Amino acid sequence: MELPDQEICYRALQTRDSRFDGLLFVGVTSTGVYCRPVCPARTPRFQHCRFFGSAAAAQQAGFRPCLRCRPETAPDLASWRGTSNTVSRALALIADSALDGDGASVGRLSERLGIGERQLRRLFIKHLGASPIAVAQTRRVLFAKQLIHETRMPMTEVAMAAGFGSVRRFNEIFRDLFGRAPSTLRREGSAAPVSTETGVTLRLRYRPPYDWDCMLAHLQARAIPAVELVENGTYRRTVEVDGFVGSVEVVHLGPQQSLGVTIRFPNVRFLAAIVTRVRRLFDTGADIETIDEHLSRDPVLAPLVAQRPGLRAPGGWDGFELAVRAILGQQVSVAAARHLAGQLVERHGKPIPVARISHSRLTHVFPTAEALAAAESIRLDMPAARQSSLKALAQAAVSDPNLFRPFGTIEEAIARFRSIRGVGEWTAQYIALRALREPDAFPASDIGLLRGAGSLEGLRPTPQRLLVRAELWRPWRAYAAQHIWTVQASAIPNRRNT
Ligand SMILES: [Zn+2]
Repeated sequence: MELPDQEICYRALQTRDSRFDGLLFVGVTSTGVYCRPVCPARTPRFQHCRFFGSAAAAQQAGFRPCLRCRPETAPDLASWRGTSNTVSRALALIADSALDGDGASVGRLSERLGIGERQLRRLFIKHLGASPIAVAQTRRVLFAKQLIHETRMPMTEVAMAAGFGSVRRFNEIFRDLFGRAPSTLRREGSAAPVSTETGVTLRLRYRPPYDWDCMLAHLQARAIPAVELVENGTYRRTVEVDGFVGSVEVVHLGPQQSLGVTIRFPNVRFLAAIVTRVRRLFDTGADIETIDEHLSRDPVLAPLVAQRPGLRAPGGWDGFELAVRAILGQQVSVAAARHLAGQLVERHGKPIPVARISHSRLTHVFPTAEALAAAESIRLDMPAARQSSLKALAQAAVSDPNLFRPFGTIEEAIARFRSIRGVGEWTAQYIALRALREPDAFPASDIGLLRGAGSLEGLRPTPQRLLVRAELWRPWRAYAAQHIWTVQASAIPNRRNT
């Protein structure tokens, strides 16, 4: 695992350097606690410090999370660790609860990644310093701890939301770690208990800088009528997971370097999965300083990065929804694609029961793959060929529920998307970029990118030339693309849907 040398780690700790937050954890041998580098407690002596690159590694080494600096609130940069894409994909699957519940196993996880179980363990130890099981366990403990501190959810709900099989197991693990019952970690207060049904609010920290205005502008331009709404600096949307319907609200808490997320959802078991989706949509896990620095080495991109530090690559809320939008966006402007998406929702989306409506303009959920696959016709104002590719996409998603989950290598994922009728290279790369959150995906034939690259360098390149040019931006070509699109969007208002 790559960590800066011990002296640098210790200096980061002494100066409470927030640039290391999320990248570095320190286990204190004299207390058995592990901390973020920004912990307000007195700095331990050098000989009592052990440094780790992940919370899971610290926890696997026997340390428990600090109650003051709360490691669960460090920016979650885990998916950026190391150079192994396999590890990143495995972490995305674990965040998606791949190791929670009865049927889950490391064997099954490695199968989905197309590698052997032993190899997966070896990669985890190398890049994270912890086994896949320890990573999943740490994730559960830290999420539960966050729910205990930040919400008034009853303990039974906390246990279920964090993915513990039972309340008994939850209690056991917390007693082992902290020597006391989970409920005693909560500060006493008079506030009434809350449930996910009525709404819980959490803070998701990111590594600064974060270009919130660009993120919000991106979402606003694409907001699907009746499903999404951007208003007064708040992003709202309706959500459907496993047949349950709820809503999500996201605001920026700049001084706290966090997003404030309010989730209303009737089934507490999906809370962690919804939080994971918010993180992916808003790209809170990016190690943005490293990315900006890498892209700035290119003299053409450097001024763009300087102008918009912390620009994120927005994800998609849901793989299927995103893929549908990619097809709706083929050859038309952002505004036209948004209009088509609204039409699709009107004709095939499910109305939300009145009791669940959280905002008068958010009345529907996006149509499911099942609904579109079963529809007699799609009936949208667009060419018949594109309507039948929507249908083919829906059928593919129904027959393979893991279609939009990380799988194999990026090339394999692209090939799998391309096997769907009407999904070409551009659409496949675009889906990989936004839905799979592949940081190196790059739709080189995108007209906006080609135009943007042309205006930056004086001559519009061919897609092949742009690909050659983009070699320098690896492994973060998706972020380079976002910079070019953003510049292009401010120059030409009615561009293609990207
Ligand atoms: Zn601490």
